[in-house]
This record gives sequence, structure tokens and C-alpha cells, in this order.
Amino acid sequence: MRTIKELVRPNIWSLAPYSSARNEYSGHVAHVFLDANENPFNGPYNRYPDPLQESLKERLSEVKNVPAENIFLGNGSDEAIDLVYRCFCEPKKDNVVAICPTYGMYEVCANINDVEYRNVMLDENYQITAEKLLAACDANTKAIWICSPNNPTGNDINNEEIEKVIENFDGIVIVDEAYIDFSKQKSFSRYINSETSNVIVLQTMSKAWGSAAIRLGMAFAKKEIIAIFNKVKYPYNVNLLTQEQAMKRLKDTQPVEQWVNILLQERGRTMEAFGELPICEKIYPTDANFFLAKVKDAQKTYDYLVDKGIIVRNRTRVSLCNNCLRVTIGTREENNELLGALRDMK
Ligand SMILES: *Cc1c(COP(=O)(O)O)cnc(C)c1O
Repeated sequence: MRTIKELVRPNIWSLAPYSSARNEYSGHVAHVFLDANENPFNGPYNRYPDPLQESLKERLSEVKNVPAENIFLGNGSDEAIDLVYRCFCEPKKDNVVAICPTYGMYEVCANINDVEYRNVMLDENYQITAEKLLAACDANTKAIWICSPNNPTGNDINNEEIEKVIENFDGIVIVDEAYIDFSKQKSFSRYINSETSNVIVLQTMSKAWGSAAIRLGMAFAKKEIIAIFNKVKYPYNVNLLTQEQAMKRLKDTQPVEQWVNILLQERGRTMEAFGELPICEKIYPTDANFFLAKVKDAQKTYDYLVDKGIIVRNRTRVSLCNNCLRVTIGTREENNELLGALRDMK
């Protein structure tokens, strides 16, 4: 395994981070704040928020069973995705390897950061072997991206293969678990403190937790990786409104469990009915709150639904997803409206 120092970009390793007013005094009890050029009026929004979101991390630590010191919080998991490149990948030199098809942001952020992005195709069951992923790596491969359950295919990636990648790759393995709450799969967060691997697990408040609007994403990793992310992130990357709303949402986890149960039940019912539609060619197995379906003509079906005010995701131009639509599970009424419209389609 390469050490974190060997993986981090040299300029980031030697970077002296911006030291904000709010981290310099921390550790002392204070009541007069004349250090940050804030306005003393209009509380509580006049004050800069906690740059490291400590109380929120304490609560997340209980909910996720991950030590607070192993948590990074960002403006959506998209921030953590971008940070992987900014911290570890030297533009025009390093590369990353990813399963294909998968979540589009990994490639967009690679392109923004001018880092080579290597696609490794899933097989016809949307699965991958560790062997194939490792064969695409060379000495300049800094990271491997795995999304499980995968987007847009919906399925868990075979956990034994993910384990083999973790055991055999000497760089960083990112496992994006945005949809883990809908899956029976166990989180890969159990690998973050391994001394023989560098694993980053991504989770988000945007899906099962019903909080896409607040923009809160999590990365779980060993302390050394969290420290690098904290050094490079914007000082106040998670605003106070988000921290407060996330705390409220996390107070009681029962509603989330209920939502997940309802959505899983609706998923079964909707997929079964969708499979019986004349336009449906195939439904792919899913472990997420959406499913992928192959239809006779995805563009025509998509346009027909848009006309009725119903929006699904047309994935027909994505590799291995020809004529596929990705359908998110909504409320019972919404799912029925979709099914009713498709039954009437000529
Ligand atoms: C939705 C999604 C995310 C979430 O991104 P946020 O920025 O946290 O909203 C991350 N990864 C995948 C695979 C997703 O589908």
C-alpha cells in the first residue's frame, strides 16, 4: 500500500491552510467575539458557523457508528468527490479508474480537474470483477471509484469483488453508498481504519434522509485523509442553516426508517406493474430507491411522460443502458399516476 503522503499531491501535502478566526480560539471558553469582523446584530445568523461541524459529527457518529474523527462533512457528497481529485490527483499526470456506467459526477470532476478518467465496463448483469478494475490501473492510478448500490443501474456491486479491490489496490478506493439505506448490503465504513488499505466511504442526506435541499454529504475515512480534506475545503463549507436542519433530521431516525419501508414496498409494487406494461422490455434488479427499465423506445416514452407532466430520467445515451429509463420511487399516488399514464400510451 502507498502511504497517504505518497498519494497526496505534493503541493497539498506542503500547503499551509487558511486559519480562520473561528479555529484559532477554539478550546477556550469565550463570550465576547471581536475577532471575525462579524456584525454583533442579527443573531444567530451574524456568526460564522463551526468550520468543523463538531456537534453534528458527534450525532452522526452515533447514527452511523463511525467515530467523529473519521467523518468529513461537505456541501453534498459532490464536494467530497471533487476533493478526491483536488487532494490526490496531479492534473495531466495521475489517473483514476471507475466502473461504467455509474454516477456522472466522478467523470465531470475528473474533467474539471484535468485528470484522466478510465472506464471499466460492467458486464451484462451490471457486475464487475476486481481483476478487471485492477487491470486498468497503472503506477499513476490514484483512486478507484465504486458506487454500490450503483447509479443508474440500481444494483449492489458484488461485495466480495469490492473487498478484493480494497485488499489488492495500493491507492484509494472510494465506495459511494448514497443509496445504502435502501440496500441489505453492510456499509464499507468498517474498512476505513484498516492499516492495509485507504478506503473512503461516501454517504449523503440527499436520498433516504429526505434532505437533498440542505446539501449535506459525508465522507468516512482514516484520520489522515480527513485531515487532508479539512485542509483543502472552504473554511465554512457547511452553513449554519444546514447544520441546524441536519441536527433536527437526525434527532429521531424513526421517520427515515418508515420512509424507507414505504419506498421499498412501493418499489416492489411499481416494478411489478411496470413489468407488465406493453412498452416494457426488461426490468433490472435494484437495491436502491429507483429502478432501471428497458422499454421499446425510451425517447418516445420520455417525451410522452413529459407531456403529461411526469418526469423520469432518460438514460438511453448511457453505456449499456440503450432504451433505458431510470424511475425514482415516489408516493403511491405518484407511482400510480406514472403507471396509469403508461397504460394509456399508444
Ligand atoms: C444522489 C447521489 C449522490 C448525492 O450527492 P449529494 O451531492 O450528496 O446530493 C452521490 N452519489 C451518487 C451515486 C448519487 O446518486
